[in-house]
Parts: sequence; structure tokens; C-alpha cells
Amino acid sequence: MTLADRPYDVIVVGLGAMGSASVYSLARARRRVLGIDRFAPPHEFGSSHGRTRIIREAYFEHPAYVPIVRRAFDLWRELERDVGRSLYVKTRGLTIGPEDGMLVRGARASAEAFGVPHRVLSAAGVREEFPGLQPLHDMVGVVDDRAGVLFPERCIAALLESAARDGADVRRDDAVLGWEVGDDGVRVRTTGGEYRAKQLVLSAGAWMPQLVPDLADVLSVVRQPIQWFDPSHADEFSPAKCPVTLWEHAPNRVFYTLPDFGDGVKAGVHYEGQPVDPDHVDRRTSSDEDAQAADLLQRFMPHANGRLRESQVCLYTNTPDLHFVIDVHPAHPKQVVVVSACSGHGFKFATAIGEVVLALLTGAPPRYDLSMFSMARFAARM
Ligand SMILES: Cc1cc2nc3c(=O)[nH]c(=O)nc-3n(C[C@H](O)[C@H](O)[C@H](O)COP(=O)(O)OP(=O)(O)OC[C@H]3O[C@@H](n4cnc5c(N)ncnc54)[C@H](O)[C@@H]3O)c2cc1C
Repeated sequence: MTLADRPYDVIVVGLGAMGSASVYSLARARRRVLGIDRFAPPHEFGSSHGRTRIIREAYFEHPAYVPIVRRAFDLWRELERDVGRSLYVKTRGLTIGPEDGMLVRGARASAEAFGVPHRVLSAAGVREEFPGLQPLHDMVGVVDDRAGVLFPERCIAALLESAARDGADVRRDDAVLGWEVGDDGVRVRTTGGEYRAKQLVLSAGAWMPQLVPDLADVLSVVRQPIQWFDPSHADEFSPAKCPVTLWEHAPNRVFYTLPDFGDGVKAGVHYEGQPVDPDHVDRRTSSDEDAQAADLLQRFMPHANGRLRESQVCLYTNTPDLHFVIDVHPAHPKQVVVVSACSGHGFKFATAIGEVVLALLTGAPPRYDLSMFSMARFAARM
């Protein structure tokens, strides 16, 4: 029997962070699942490459994320045990900015709402504890003790490996061209053939507008440069000494850094990227983009601002309110689940979101209130 002849319970389209976690969760629950990707995940054409991702618990974006990230932490640990490899390193996290800025206020509010272990340091306290960091005198830092780094390519490989062990089928280099729901279930047409299942998960990242046209005016895909710099004082930026950082360097403007895992200090500007067609992305960073990252490092982490060692371009798929879309498809609520969990901060939640996808497909009550992630909130644009 070929894959095309097999009747699946669920087909998952897109095997980046969200799709591979969905396949993992479904396969563990003994669903017959087929995952399809247009490339060979983990790959560097979507939103899940660049070797490192921040995971943090004091969540400035909204306290509702705290229980989700807590569950995700547990599930990442389970996955590590499953595959026998490390996927996470604890570095601690530091959210830095003016005391009344959105970053520090948000991180403190989340931490206080959910009893997240945290400490608030003055600028002098930050400099003393973390010599590589040089905040302005009117900034404070919120230390998040559990924060750290996930390794996205390793995570996706582990999710798919474990899912395959649980019986999932995976098709790589096969682009989905269209899907439809009929009386006999779901049909998915790809460059390689046609597949059938009872249910469908759409998790195509930056390509979601092509597969879910209702979201075309909701989601915006933007180009996000990332850079790695050789620090001049390497000892200050090791994962043991330097936390992951988020800086509100100007009102509502954020950049972030990750410590040196042997490939340099990584820095990126959060948001501010240019809209882009995901099929035509200039993968080289410009000298202006590199200079912006170097200038920010020079101001706040001057000893990290050595030679530019490498740069990459990644994609954010943003919603207007920067929260995710995780919902049943309004026209096919029993058959189709839609997951667009990016807006530049989704990776850390992937394992917990995979579990939510399973709940949505089976009609079980999800663990969290998902109204914040509904498609209905964008009804006026759809
Ligand atoms: C520079 C950068 C830094 C980030 N930093 C963080 C961070 O520190 N912490 C954090 O939590 N999050 C972070 N994020 C966000 C996080 O990486 C994303 O939320 C997450 O990767 C999104 O996963 P996804 O599955 O939606 O998309 P992707 O991982 O891009 O997966 C989508 C998949 O769908 C496939 N696909 C698309 N169309 C089709 C089709 N027609 N047929 C078949 N397959 C298809 C693609 O090939 C791709 O594999 C960052 C993102 C970027 C870009």
C-alpha cells in the first residue's frame, strides 16, 4: 500500500515547529498521522532556523502564556528523555528596560500573577551580576531563573524522530497545493499526489495565507535578520555567565540576545522587519541591518560587539495583536485545525501547542482558554 492509499486519521501540513509538535502529539496518542512538508525539515526557509530560541516564563506579552510555557517546559523535558538528547540549556533570562516600560511592566505582571520565581535588579545590580551587560542608569532588569535556550533544529528533528517511532509517516519535499473537505473526509493535493484523512491540521508558517485565504488580510509575513558577533571578552558571554536578554532600548522597541554557544553572541531586532513574499526572500542581511545590530550591542553589551561572524534571515508571521491563531477552521470546525503560532515568539510553546491541536481535533476541552487565539477576533478582516 502506498502512502496515498492509506486512510489517515490526520494529515498535518507544514512540519516546522508547530507541525512537527502536532505530529508528535498525535502519534503518541496513537492517531494514524501523515506529516507533509514542502522542504526537508528542519530547514532554513521558514521561521524555525538559526540554532537557538529563547524560552522564558516571566512573559511580558501576556500572563495567559505562563501556564502554556510551563506545560511546554515539561513536554520538552519529556521529549529529551524520549530521544536521549539535550534540547534545552538553562541560562536564566533578563528583561531589561525602563521600570514603567512595556517589557519590564509586562514581565513583572506575569511573574507576579503566576508566582514565577524572579528578581528585580537595578541597573547597577545588573552590571554587577552580569558584567557583559551595560544598561542605562534608569533601566531595571527582571531576572527569570528558569529561562534558557532551546535548539530549534534539534527540537524539530527530535519531534519527527519520536513521531516516526510512534508510527507517523512523514513526506518531505512535497508541497501541498490545495485541500478540500468532503463527505468522506479531507483530501490534500500535493506536488507528489493526493492523500486522504479524516482531519487536517494546517501549520504552514509563513505560507499560511496561501492555504487559508481567510487569513490573508490577517497575517503579515516579515523578514527578520539575525546576526552573530565574536565577543571581545568571551568569558562574559558564556551560557553560564550571560543570560538570554530582551532590551526595551527605546519606547516599545526591543532587541534580544543569546549567549555565545561557541558560534558568537547572537543578536536580533524584534519586529521592525520588512514585509516579504516567503517564496522570494533575500537571505542576505544588508549593511544597514548589520550596523543596527552592532550599534545596539555597542550601546548595551559593548564587549560582545566584535567581528560580525555570521548573519541569517528568518521570517515572522505576525497577527495584528501579535498573539497566535490556534483554532478550528470556522467553515470546518470538526475537520480542520489552523495553527499560526509565530508573531516572533511561538517556538517555546510548540510542544504544548501540539497537545492543544490534539484536543481540538478530538473535541476534548483544551487545558487553556484559547479565546485569545481565536480566528473570530479578526472577523472584520476575514
Ligand atoms: C529570527 C527569529 C527569532 C525568533 N526567536 C524566538 C525565540 O527566541 N523564542 C520563541 O519562542 N520564538 C521565537 N521565534 C518564533 C518562532 O521561531 C516561531 O513562532 C516558530 O518557529 C513558528 O513555527 P511554525 O511551525 O509556525 O513555522 P515554520 O517552522 O516556518 O513551519 C512552517 C512549515 O510549513 C511548511 N510549508 C509551508 N507551506 C507548505 C505547503 N504548501 N506544503 C507543505 N509544507 C508547507 C514549511 O516548509 C515549513 O517547514 C523567532 C522567529 C524568528 C524568525
